[in-house]
Amino acid sequence: MWRNHYQKKATGTGRAWIELDMVRLLHNVGILRSILPGTCQLMPAVKANAYGHGAAVISRELNRLGVSAFCVASAVEGVELRKKKIKGEILVLGYTDPEQFHLLRRYRLMQTVIDYGYAKKLNALGKRITVHIKVDTGMRRLGEPAESVENILKILKCENLVIAGIYSHFSAQDSGDPVDCAITQSQIDGFNNVLSRIREEGFDIPKAHIQNSYGVFARPDLTFDYARVGIALYGAYQSSRGEAGALLPVLSLKARVSAVKAVRAGETVGYGRAFAAGRDMKIAVLSIGYADGIPRAFSCGVGRVLINGKPAPIVGCVCMDQTTVDVTDIDGVMQGDVAVFIGRDGGAEISIMDFAEAAGTIPNEVLSRLGGRLERCVI
Ligand SMILES: *Cc1c(COP(=O)(O)O)cnc(C)c1O
Repeated sequence: MWRNHYQKKATGTGRAWIELDMVRLLHNVGILRSILPGTCQLMPAVKANAYGHGAAVISRELNRLGVSAFCVASAVEGVELRKKKIKGEILVLGYTDPEQFHLLRRYRLMQTVIDYGYAKKLNALGKRITVHIKVDTGMRRLGEPAESVENILKILKCENLVIAGIYSHFSAQDSGDPVDCAITQSQIDGFNNVLSRIREEGFDIPKAHIQNSYGVFARPDLTFDYARVGIALYGAYQSSRGEAGALLPVLSLKARVSAVKAVRAGETVGYGRAFAAGRDMKIAVLSIGYADGIPRAFSCGVGRVLINGKPAPIVGCVCMDQTTVDVTDIDGVMQGDVAVFIGRDGGAEISIMDFAEAAGTIPNEVLSRLGGRLERCVI
C-alpha cells in the first residue's frame, strides 16, 4: 500500500536541491524498530530542520510510518511542525524563554525542565504546562544533576506542571572504547537511581528515555520508553559496526551547472584571484554556494563534486551563491547538467562521511547547515 505514495518521482527543477529517498527513511526506521524492544517508541530528533533534510516533509513521512513523538531544539521549531499539521507529541529539548511560554500551550508542545529554577519559572505561569524533566547524568549541559534528587522531587511537586516524562542524555560517542562504555553505564546507573528514588517517593512518571542514536546501537538491551534518534534515522551515523552498517543515507545534494566556460592558461577564476589556471581549462559554474551549506573551506581543490559520474575538483573560492569546478577532463558537460555534492552519480559516490571529512567536521554539522534556500524533493 505504502508504495503508492512513493510512485511520484521528482528531481530538482531549480538551481540547487536536496533529494530525499523516503524508501531509505522507511528502511532506517525498520532497522531502528527491529533493534529496540517493542515497548520502546521512536522519538525522532527533527531539530535544525530535521538535520537539514526538511522538518515538515520528514515529520509528515514519519507520521505516516506510525511515528507519533518528535523532539526539536526550540519552541519555534515545534510551532512550525504544528503549523504543518504534524501529529503526536513534540518535546522541546532546549531552553524556552518565559516570553514564549504561551507557545507551549497554544501549540501543545512539551517543554524540557532544565533545572529546578526553571521549573519554578514554568510553574509561575499559573497555567498547566506539560513537561519532561531533564536529568544531568554526566553530560554537564542541561538538566538537574542526578545527585540532587531532592530538587527533582521538588520539580515533581510543582502544581502547574504536568510531568509526562523524564530523560537524560549520553555524552559518549560510538567508539567501542571501554572507558566510554563504562561512562555510559555510569550514566544509566545514575538515571536508574533517580527513577527508583522517585518511585519510592510515590511518584509515577509515564515515560523515561535516555538513548540517542549512539545509545540505540551501543545499548540495545535498555528498556526505556523512547529512543531520541537523529543521525541514525537519516543514515549518516558514523559507525558501521553491527546493524549500524545497514543504515542508508536518505539525502543527496545536487546543483545545476549554470555555465561552462573556457579559461586560458594564466587567467584566474573567482574572487581574490585565488585560482590561476596552469593550462587551458574548462570550468563549470555551479549555482550553489556557502549560503546553501557548501563549506567555504572547500575552496581551491579541497572539495569536489561528481559530474557525469566523474570527479570535478573545486577551483577558486566557494562564493555565497556560486561555486566553480574543473571539468577540463570530463566530456560533454553542458549548461543545465547536474553536479552531485553528496550522493551517487553513475558508479561513483560522494558519501556524507566523505563530504564531512573533507570539510574537517562531522555529518551532523554539514547536514544541519544545509540552507533553507535549497529545494527539498521527495524521490
Ligand atoms: C540532538 C539530540 C538527540 C539526537 O541525537 P543523535 O545523535 O542525532 O541521535 C537526542 N537527544 C538530545 C537531547 C539531543 O539534543
